[in-house]
This record gives sequence, C-alpha cells and structure tokens, in this order.
Amino acid sequence: MSSRRELFLEEMGLTPLWRLKTSQVEATEDASAVAVETIAATTQPSAGVDASVGADDRAARIARMDWTELKAAVAACAACGLRKTCTQTVFGIGDEKADWLLVGEAPGAEEDARGQPFVGQAGRLLDSMLAGIGLKRGENVYIANVLKCRPPGNRNPAPLEVAQCAPHLMRQVELIQPKLILAMGRFACQTLLETDASIASLRGRLHRYQGVPLIVTYHPAYLLRSLADKAKAWEDLCFARRSMATGMAQT
Ligand code: URA
Repeated sequence: MSSRRELFLEEMGLTPLWRLKTSQVEATEDASAVAVETIAATTQPSAGVDASVGADDRAARIARMDWTELKAAVAACAACGLRKTCTQTVFGIGDEKADWLLVGEAPGAEEDARGQPFVGQAGRLLDSMLAGIGLKRGENVYIANVLKCRPPGNRNPAPLEVAQCAPHLMRQVELIQPKLILAMGRFACQTLLETDASIASLRGRLHRYQGVPLIVTYHPAYLLRSLADKAKAWEDLCFARRSMATGMAQT
C-alpha cells in the first residue's frame, strides 16, 4: 500500500480494518444487485427555481460553447450577485477528457484566493480520498463545483445562484464526457439529479445525469466534521471504483 493510500485510510479513520483489496476492485459486480436509477436531468435550472424569461436562451447559448468560450463566459459572468463579493471565479481543474468528474458545492476562502477548486482543508482530504482509490487530481480526474464564485462567508448557495450557474457545470459535463460523476454533498447531488432527496437516501445506487452514471457521496468538508460518516464515504468510493473497473459505469 502506498504511503498516500495509508495517509488516506488514516485520515478516514479506517485503519487497520479497511483496505481496498485488488480483488474488490476487480470483483465482478452483480449488476442486478444495484438499483440503476435513471434520472432524466435536463439543462434547466435546478428544481424549484422559477426561471425567468431569457434563462432558456442563456442556457442554450452556454450549451453551445467550447472550452475557451465557456471559460471566458464564467470569468465574465455577472448573472448573480456573487461575482461582486468574490475575488475571482473558480472554473474547475483537471483533465478535460477525464473519465472521473468530481463535483463539489462552491469555492471556499482558499479556492477564492487561489482560483482553483478544493485547495483548502477539504481539498486535502479529497486528495487523500482520491489516493485511496488509486486516483490523483489532474490525472484522468476533473474537479468542478456547482457554483464558480464563492458565496460570502461560505454560506449555502441560494437557489437563484444555483440556477444561474448550473448551465456552466452542465456544459463542463458535456465537454468532458466523463464515464462517472462523483457528486459530493447536497448541492451537487440535488442540482445534478434535480431532487430534494437527502444524501443518505441517494447513496449506494447508480444514478444517471444526462446518461452519465453518477454516484452520490458526502462532501469532504462535512466529513471533516462528521467522523462517523467517513466509513460510508469510503464505501461510496469503493462502489465508484468498482463501477468504473467493471465497466458498469459505461453501460
Ligand atoms: N468546497 C467545495 O464544495 N468546493 C471547493 O472547491 C472547496 C470547498
């Protein structure tokens, strides 16, 4: 086991009992044992948001952008009030053709200062979690957030902010064409799956966003506070890893 993986398992409070065994990764998943939930997500704003006139046109425009146009659009975006209070936009980072797409909530203070997602304490845990399943930031992995601007004081994203920013994430998904999306935390899960359901009720199943397999897990920042749920997050990661390894994520 590599030291990065050991570090991860230690941080997750899973040593010495929990180990990602090769056989676990290679084990053939009984597809019938896993409920596959197809959710017909659209490029519309998240559930419950009253989209104003013109939002469809904007979303349609964003849905046609290439990477360069999308990055410029995010950098120049003033569709909600957050750009006035944040330092800079945080577009996302990683391999633009990655098999793995990880989606979080919104930039925090360090992300806002550095312009990159998950570079604070939660990001360090995320890196360890990735190492735990043999992945590394930037190598076949792309990391993005629902919101590209930091909400002041790290407050929860407001529905209107999610509705205005979600088309950017949706276009990122279309451009990346990942084999699997790991949605981390309530805002990522609820936005992509257009549901109000809890993380607890969504975990452990393969969902789909626009046909792309999606697995739900807890947000790393929540895991820093809730040690009891780290073991569940580890189960989610193993499930994701297994789904990718067995090709289930591609069916
Ligand atoms: N939390 C998130 O959801 N995203 C980040 O980029 C950092 C913390």
